[in-house]
Amino acid sequence: MNHITAADETGAPMIVISRDACGLRPAKHELEHVRPHPGIIIHCTGGQRPASLEHAMKRWRIVQLSHQRERGWADIGYHFGVTPDGQVLEGRGFGVLGAHAKGHNRLLGVVVLGKGTEITPAEERAIEAIHAALLAGGGGAVVMPHNAVSRKSCPGPAVTAWMRQRWPEDPIGR
Ligand SMILES: [Zn+2]
Repeated sequence: MNHITAADETGAPMIVISRDACGLRPAKHELEHVRPHPGIIIHCTGGQRPASLEHAMKRWRIVQLSHQRERGWADIGYHFGVTPDGQVLEGRGFGVLGAHAKGHNRLLGVVVLGKGTEITPAEERAIEAIHAALLAGGGGAVVMPHNAVSRKSCPGPAVTAWMRQRWPEDPIGR
C-alpha cells in the first residue's frame, strides 16, 4: 500500500493512504490555498459502512465522481476520510479550500464512512490524529459536527454524541 505521511506538511506524524493509492483522479483545476485551517468539521457520507479497505477506497472514488460530475466541483469535497478500522484516506489533503460545509470551507472537512450510527475506537483515534496534526501545523483547535452549522443531521447520532463528549467546549450539534 502506498502510504504517505503528512509530517512534512504539519509537523506531526500522521499516516494516510494517498489519493493515488485510493485511485482518485486529479483535481480538475488548482485549488485555492488555505493556511492555517481554523479547525475541523466532521461529516458522514451516508450509505453503508465499508466492510474492507478495498470497499472503503471504492466508496472514496465514488464520492469523488459524484462531487466532480454531479456537483461540478474540482475535486472530492472532503480533505480526509476515515475508515471503520481507523485508516485515513487522503482527499484534498492539508492546505487547500474544501467543499463540504457552505461558508465554512476553510475548516478541514473530515468524513466518516456510513450514516454515523456507530463510531469505532479506531475511528476516534484517527480523527484525534488528524486533529493533532492540524494543531502541530499551527491550525485552529475547534472541532465541530456539520450539524452545528447546518440543518442536516450529518455526521449522524453516534458520531455527534462522541464529539459532544470529546470536545464539550466546541460548537455542538443537534
Ligand atoms: Zn456533512
